[in-house]
Amino acid sequence: MTIPEQGITKPQRRTFFVADLKCYMCGSVAGSVESEQSPASAGLGSPVFLRQAGRDEAVQVANWRRLRCDRCGGPLFLDESDVITRRYDEYNWLEERPRRGRPPKRLIEERRRERELLEAEAA
Ligand SMILES: [Zn+2]
Repeated sequence: MTIPEQGITKPQRRTFFVADLKCYMCGSVAGSVESEQSPASAGLGSPVFLRQAGRDEAVQVANWRRLRCDRCGGPLFLDESDVITRRYDEYNWLEERPRRGRPPKRLIEERRRERELLEAEAA
């Protein structure tokens, strides 16, 4: 088996910072934030993605520092930040279509008939 060189591009790797958003006052976790920059060092105006507990979709938040605890309204801080790497495969499916060298059956059939005709003429 050979590995085709065409159609496969290098997978892209992107690093994300993930951290829990915790309440200063009651300690409950309001959700987690995700950012391509460190959300702690990211200044104002660098949006992060907020994933709230019980919700599948992440929402973009311009400034997580403005968020408040759902339970008590207390200020939030980032807890247990983590760095994750995600892989994005850019796969070119169009290139991957099989290109076999064998001619289709119809062509083989046509050629066979042509040869038979020539043989019949020669006879
Ligand atoms: Zn709270």
